[in-house]
Amino acid sequence: AIMPTLLSGIANGAKQGILFKNGAQLEQIGRIKAIAFDKTGTLTTGQPDVDQVIPAPGYSECQVLQVAAKLEAYSEHPIGQAIVTAAQTQLEEQLSSPDTVLTKLDTPTTIQAFPGQGILGWLDRQPTAVGQWQFVQAYNSACPPTLQARSEQLQQAGKTVVWVAQADQILGLIAIADRVRPEATGTITHLKTLGLVPIMLTGDNQATADSVAATVGIDRVYANLLPEDKLSLIRQLQQQYGAVAMVGDGINDAPALAQASVGIAMGVAGSDVALETADIVLMSDRLERIAAAVQLGKRSQRIVK
Ligand code: ADP
Ligand code: MG
Repeated sequence: AIMPTLLSGIANGAKQGILFKNGAQLEQIGRIKAIAFDKTGTLTTGQPDVDQVIPAPGYSECQVLQVAAKLEAYSEHPIGQAIVTAAQTQLEEQLSSPDTVLTKLDTPTTIQAFPGQGILGWLDRQPTAVGQWQFVQAYNSACPPTLQARSEQLQQAGKTVVWVAQADQILGLIAIADRVRPEATGTITHLKTLGLVPIMLTGDNQATADSVAATVGIDRVYANLLPEDKLSLIRQLQQQYGAVAMVGDGINDAPALAQASVGIAMGVAGSDVALETADIVLMSDRLERIAAAVQLGKRSQRIVK
């Protein structure tokens, strides 16, 4: 009687936009006790916008954004895409205004993306870094104090701050405003009523993470995580709770998705690696389907037993 039950569960899932890669995962998701969520692209839309650009003394907004976009053109991170879009808009506006002189920038070389941290490359014969503070700091000198203060304010307001640095100079920061998915809060509430403990695992900084977590109702937050940190936290959570699910969208989530008892990927926002690694794919990125999947899983167990 197992096969027909699982198959009908899988079919029901498919109708609701939940793609189970195999029947074992349907049963497994009915057993999970805790569920870890990535933040950027998962609890948030993954279509963030550039909110503001703050140049360091001696630089212009335009320089900061254009330098960042040159590198981010090679990134598949949602933050990178937001920066490229904003830079294009800025260029179009400038082209239509006759008295602006455009800064010509070379095509960057030896670009390397560091999942969960930022992107690095050579631009105009100088090492150039775009990413979170710890990342750019490794390549550059001190931060102008005025920018540091602005950065803290922005993060407490839930914005992600991306730093732009070249050679030993901080050129400025870009504040990224990410929208919490409209169904995120309802989904977390629903999962709690099903008896699951929600947890946030993010590569973003603590202040931004806390702000988003408070909005959606998650009490347990781990920030500043690299991909391998997300993986070891899933291991720890498994020791504490037994079966643990992980929901994510990025390359940076792939190790954690593989380690989790059930890996769940965002079907639309998700990167190829996340989609390949996950056991379950949310076809239209609708988070509330996770609660439906848990209920399908519980039901399939009840029938099998
Ligand atoms: P999350 O875990 O919330 O999905 P990530 O691990 O993808 O976030 O990224 C963590 C942080 O690393 C981002 O908040 C950002 O500060 C920085 N970062 C990662 N990739 C990039 C990029 N391509 N450009 C700029 N910053 C980046
Ligand atoms: Mg993400």
